[in-house]
Formats: sequence, structure tokens, C-alpha cells
Amino acid sequence: MAEDKKLTTRAADFSAWYNETVLRAELADYSPVRGCMVIRPRGYGIWERMQRQLDCMFKDTGHENAYFPLFIPESFLHKEAQHVEGFAPEVAVVTHGGGKKLDEPLVIRPTSETIIYAMFAKWVQSYRDLPLLINQWANVVRWEMRTRLFLRTLEFLWQEGHTAHATEGEAEEEARKMLGVYRDFMEGWMAMPVVTGIKTDSERFAGAVRTYSCEAMMQDNKALQAGTTHNLGQNFAKAFDLKFQTEAGGVDYAWNTSWGVSTRLVGGLVMTHGDDFGLRTPPFLAPVELVIVPIWRSDEDKARVLEAAQKVRATLSAWERRKTGKLRVHLDDREGMKPGAKYYEWELRGIPVRLEIGPRDVDNNQCVLVRRDNRVKRTVTLDSVGEDVADLLSMMQTDMRVAAFERREANSVRGDVTYDRLRELMAGEGAFVYAGWCGRAECEAQIKEETKATIRVLPDEEFRSAEAPTRCVKCARSATAEALWAKAY
Ligand SMILES: [Zn+2]
Repeated sequence: MAEDKKLTTRAADFSAWYNETVLRAELADYSPVRGCMVIRPRGYGIWERMQRQLDCMFKDTGHENAYFPLFIPESFLHKEAQHVEGFAPEVAVVTHGGGKKLDEPLVIRPTSETIIYAMFAKWVQSYRDLPLLINQWANVVRWEMRTRLFLRTLEFLWQEGHTAHATEGEAEEEARKMLGVYRDFMEGWMAMPVVTGIKTDSERFAGAVRTYSCEAMMQDNKALQAGTTHNLGQNFAKAFDLKFQTEAGGVDYAWNTSWGVSTRLVGGLVMTHGDDFGLRTPPFLAPVELVIVPIWRSDEDKARVLEAAQKVRATLSAWERRKTGKLRVHLDDREGMKPGAKYYEWELRGIPVRLEIGPRDVDNNQCVLVRRDNRVKRTVTLDSVGEDVADLLSMMQTDMRVAAFERREANSVRGDVTYDRLRELMAGEGAFVYAGWCGRAECEAQIKEETKATIRVLPDEEFRSAEAPTRCVKCARSATAEALWAKAY
């Protein structure tokens, strides 16, 4: 096959490797509209599984789904000063409809705070109506100049949670809680460890009081902002007159939060786990967990191998697990294609386990299981193949998370980091650098200018160094916080 051409290696050109992997694993394709992408079934299947699990986790924490319109009156965006300043440069605006110029232009939502809090203002009268805990699954549009498949596209899919609370404390608790939900999902399901913490003023969401983030390290040692939660304070409530009668009989503005993750996570999964053979998918999120490749030469062998393969498929497909449901199995019985070519294709597509079965295996009542993550082979008896496969998949899920965690820690730098060292690291292999910061925006801006590294977060306590840095890495003034520096997507 002509397409057997090897992938560019990660070491040679990580960015080229990423694009080739996304395209050749058939996750997504370029669209006729610049900056947009088409998500293909193999990519959408991963997103669907992400969506399903996150949706369960949102509902378990008391949220309900709703849907708000794609169009937002342009005047809404102007009601919150910081919000419009942050989003105006990247909004798409509809000026005509039905052949006529509109009285008021409509913005295509870049995010839905404005329209959602305008509606909340209608629905909330009393403290008894609070908290209001809503999530929506939607598409949004942000007119980005430089786009990358999954990581940054003009239109993308996401969820946005929006909540209203009676007290500041409850809103803060909600923003922190949802950050924890995101982290549990990213680590437990994507096998992608993250560092959590608070954003500095310069990286805060437009209109928020505080923004929290999950930051993951990709294999080029750059950070991916994988999910954010915002404590919006009363900023939007004041802009949209979202008031309620308090329990004490007074009137107060509600306290809001919003939080979101997007199809960017699919890109994060690729860049966390992929290798030079292509995609590797954590089993929990793989649309197909196991592919059966039957091997035969003669017609006589073909009949009995296929029969055995179908039997194995039936056994495995009926295998039910507590957390992840029925095993998702595919039998690749395509004719006229050598087993080696099939192996190559399924490895590229990141199917977690391959099951090979040939005439001699049938004679011996056995088959061979090959792990995609480390390519280790093991022969197992067909009598216990269900248990063996289920065990193997859950082991892989753990092993992939541990491997990603160890890689991140091996590329994290702590302690007394000099500015020269920081600059050298950012010009070279990259890293997560934990270093002191004086809290001044000018040091943050200068470092960004000189090294392209930004403060990803001021990390939560469990991620901070045992010994807190005492000096700002840039100006040597007293440090007011420990900051995580990295180049980012
Ligand atoms: Zn400083």
C-alpha cells in the first residue's frame, strides 16, 4: 500500500507528527472553510465517549442540561465591559437574514454567559430558586487566525456549565468542585495527568473574578490548557440584572460560575499518548477496544479460523464490565489484505488490543493478545479470554496514566531555577518549570516576551514544591507565589 509510508517521528517534528496522526488515524479532516474541521467517525467516537462520561459526572453533581440559541444580540456582549473586550476581536457577526439587513446584528456565540444570564434573570426571583445548575452541550465560534485540528478551530464543540448561587462562598465552592470533576475525568478516563491551580490576572477569563485551570503536559513538553472553571462573582448578574430576594428579606445579585471543556481534549489525548506508530487510545475512551485479526493461508484454514474468530467475537462482545459496559470488539475479516497490513492500520488508529488467531491457535484452543501501548504479546487460552482481555484493558488504562505521569515529572524542573536556566529550557526541550514570582505583571510579560513561556497556573498546594521558592525568577524580589511556567498551545 502506498500509504504505508511511515509517520514523521515525534522527535523529528512533533507538530507534523500530530497532524499526520490525526489525519491518518481518521480522527478529523480539513474542511472547505478555512480554519474549520470535519470530525470523522473515529474522532467523533472518542468525543462521544468523553461526552457520555462527563455528562454522567455533571448529573451526579446536580446539574441539568438545557439548550440556548446560537445567536446572541450584539448589544448583550457589550453589557459586561471586560467580556466584550476579551471576545470582540474573535466574534463572527450576522448582519443579514432572509435577504434583509437586520435591525440589530447577531453575534454567533463565542461562549454563552450573556444570553444564559439574561435568561436566568427571568427565572430567578427568590433564594428558593437557587442554586440554578445548568449545563449545555453546544458548538461555539471564535474567529481564530492560526488554527490546528482539534486544538484551535473556528468552530468547536464543547460543554459550558453555568450556575447561579445565593452566596459568594457557594459560587467559589462550585468553581473548585467542577475543577475537581474535570481533573477526575482527565486522569481517570483520559489517563492524562493535570496540574490544577488558579490563573493570573493576565490569563483570566474575560469577565471572571477568578479562573481555575487543568494544565496537561504534552509530549513536546508544552502545556495544554485542558479545562477551565470561573468564579464570575456578580459581574454578569449586575450586567443582566440577575437579582433575587434573599432569605433575610433583602435583594441581592446572584453569584455565578461557568466552566467548560471542548473537543480540544481529543487533541490532548493524541499528544499525551500517541507514539511513532500512531495513535494510542486509553481503553475507557476507545470506540473499539479490541480488534480480532484472523490469519489463514488455505481455504480450508480460512473456514475454521473464521468460525473460531466469530465465536471469540461473540464471547467478548457479551462481556459486561461494571464501569465501562460491554466490551467493544471488531472482527477484521477483510479479504485480500495481509495480516501485517491490518496490524499496521489498527496500530495507527490506536485500538488498545489486537487479538490474533491462526490455524495453529485454533488447534491449541488459544489466541495471541497484543497490547497497543507497549506492543507486548501474550498467548492465552480461549477458555478464559474474556477475563484476560478485561484485565488487560484495565491494566493498560492504569499503565498509560502512570507512564504519562512519569513523563511529566521527568520533565518538570523545581528548586532554585535561575532565569538563564528557564530561558535555556524554553529555547530547548521545554519543561514545566516551578519557580518563584513576585506577583508583578511586568515580570510575567517580560518572561513571555523573552522565552514565550507563560504562567500556566499558580499551582494548588499538592503540586507546589516542598520548599517554597523565595525569589522571583525574573527580578529576584521576594516571591509572593510559586508559579508554573511553560510554553503552551
Ligand atoms: Zn519579578
